[in-house]
Amino acid sequence: MAKKPLLEFTDRGIYCARGKFYIDPWKPVDDAVITHAHADHAYWGHKNYLAHHLSKEILLYRLGEINLQTVEYGETVMKNGVAISLYPAGHVIGSAQIRVEYQGEVWVVSGDYKVEDDGISTPFEPVKCHHFISECTFGMPVYTWKPQVQIFEDVNNWWRTNLHNGVATVLVGYSLGKSQRILQNLDLFNGKVYTHGVIENTNEALRRNGVLLNPTERITANSVKEEVRKGIILAPPSSVSTPWMRKFQPYSFGYCSGWMAIRGAKRRRAADRGFVLSDHADWNGLISAIDATDCESVYLTHGYTATFSRYLNEIGFDAHEVHTLYGGEEENPSNLPEGETPNVPENNNANQVLSFGEDLSEAGGVS
Ligand SMILES: [Zn+2]
Ligand SMILES: [Zn+2]
Repeated sequence: MAKKPLLEFTDRGIYCARGKFYIDPWKPVDDAVITHAHADHAYWGHKNYLAHHLSKEILLYRLGEINLQTVEYGETVMKNGVAISLYPAGHVIGSAQIRVEYQGEVWVVSGDYKVEDDGISTPFEPVKCHHFISECTFGMPVYTWKPQVQIFEDVNNWWRTNLHNGVATVLVGYSLGKSQRILQNLDLFNGKVYTHGVIENTNEALRRNGVLLNPTERITANSVKEEVRKGIILAPPSSVSTPWMRKFQPYSFGYCSGWMAIRGAKRRRAADRGFVLSDHADWNGLISAIDATDCESVYLTHGYTATFSRYLNEIGFDAHEVHTLYGGEEENPSNLPEGETPNVPENNNANQVLSFGEDLSEAGGVS
C-alpha cells in the first residue's frame, strides 16, 4: 500500500495527520499554522496559532484574543515529531512559506507570495522540497509585472500633476500589504500622506510590531478638508464610491492592483488611473519560484489553477489542481459588476476560472 502523504487536502484546510496540525485552515481546528494575516488564510476560532512574529499584532487586531505562538524565519518547531519552519514569502510583512519535514520528506506551503523585493516585506526565499503547494493568482502569461520603481515613478508623477491641477489625489490599495508598500515609496516632498481608518489601524498594528513606516495622518471628522486635499489620500477598496471618498471632490482616483494589467479593469472600478502593482507573483515569478524548489510535484491552490497546471504539465512538472477556500484580498477581481469578466486575450480559459468573491480584506473583521 502506498505511503500516506505528509500533507493532505481536507475540507478544513491543508492537514498534516502525522503532526496533527493544519496550515491556513478555514474551519476551526486545534492547531493552526498561519502563512500570513490576510483574512482568507488567518481565520478566527482555532485553539492554537503558530505564525511569524511580524504577523502578531495584525493577527491580534484582526482576530482579537487568540492563543498565538510566534517564530522567526528559519526557526524550527516540532509537533509530534514533524519539523515545521517558516521562510519568507515576500507577499506582505510577516508572510511565510511553511516548510514541513518528516523522515526526510519535505513539503513547502507557499501561502501567497511574490518574488520581487518590495523593500518592506522580507524578500521571498526559495526552499528546496519534494512537494510544493503554490498559489497561482496571476498564473497567466498576460500578467507580467514591471519593476516597482517604474510603477512608483508613475504614481508620484500622477500625484504631482494632480497638485498642479488643484485636484485631490486618492489612491486605493488593500489595507494590509499594498498600502504600506505604497506608503514607503511615495515621494514625501510632494506632501503629507493621509489615511483611511482601516489602513491606519493596520499601520498602527505594524508599528506596535516594531515596523518602521513613513509618517501618516489618520483622516477623522476633525480633518481639515483643504489640508487633506494638499496631500495624498490612501484608501481601501471598500471606500470606493462611498460618501467618505466623495467629500474630497474634486479628485483623481487611482487604483493599485495586479488586475489593472487587463483592459477594462480600470473602467469597471471607475478609476481615473490604474497602476499595475501586485503582492502576488506574476507568470514568470510563479514559474521561477516553482522551478527553484526542485520539487517532484506541485499542487495549485487558487487562481488560474486549470490553465496553469496544464502549462506546468506541458513543460515537464507534475502539477495538480487542489480545492481550497483561499482567494481574497487582491486575489479576486472584486468590484466587478456581476456577469462581467476581465477582458483578457482569447484562448486562455481565463473566464472559466475567474470567480468574483467579496473583498475579504475588508470583510475580515476590519471596519
Ligand atoms: Zn494574502
Ligand atoms: Zn490569499
